[in-house]
Formats: sequence, structure tokens, C-alpha cells
Amino acid sequence: MQRPIPWFWILLGLLLLLAPGPAGRFLIDLLGSLTLLLLLLPVLFGVAGFVGWQILRRRLRTCAVCGFSSLDLEVCPACGTPFAVSSEQSPLGEGAGMASRSAPGSGEIAAADATIDVEVVAVEDQSA
Ligand SMILES: [Zn+2]
Repeated sequence: MQRPIPWFWILLGLLLLLAPGPAGRFLIDLLGSLTLLLLLLPVLFGVAGFVGWQILRRRLRTCAVCGFSSLDLEVCPACGTPFAVSSEQSPLGEGAGMASRSAPGSGEIAAADATIDVEVVAVEDQSA
């Protein structure tokens, strides 16, 4: 079954396109704007994505020890190496990183410098 040709809408569209009235002009402007928007949206999204990726890449830090990339953290989440010492992308120099890492006399030990001794204790089977 074939749909009837919508002559009414075609005639209305032709009348709006041909008639030099404000309604026809508004319709043409609206259609032109929508077409332009549809054509430019992918370009805008592409530019926004590119800029976002550049910003993200600038903030990404790669661990020099294990190569793990992460966002703007002080310490590598994979291996625990401080980025201030290992990363060359850091604005702080190596000396500043070392100075902040171990302050003498402060009583605080950086987690990277600490060594945790674990004693191995054999667990006796209590149920026997
Ligand atoms: Zn790491």
C-alpha cells in the first residue's frame, strides 16, 4: 500500500519558500541555521575533544620506575614512587623533591623511605 503524496505540505512549503513574507524568510533562516549547526557540531566536538585530550595529556604523569600513567597524584598508585623525584615533567626540580621528601628532625618518615619489618610466625593448628 502506497502512501498518498502530501500535496498539501509540498504546496505549503513552496508557498513559504516563494512568498517574500516574514514567515517564509524566518523558515529559511531557521533551516539554514539548523543545517549549519548540524554540519558544525562534529567539528566543534572534535576541537573540544582535541583540546581536552591535550590538557589531559599535560596533566598525566608517567612513573619513571614502572611506567604507570596517572592523573596529578603525588605518588605513583602502582608502585608508590613519588613523582616529584622520579618524573621529569614535574615543575619542581630534583633538589626540591629530595628536600621535601625527608626533612631531618621533623619526626615524620616518608612512606617511600620506610622499611616495614614483618616477622614470620608459624601458626599452630589450635583445633588439634
Ligand atoms: Zn610506578
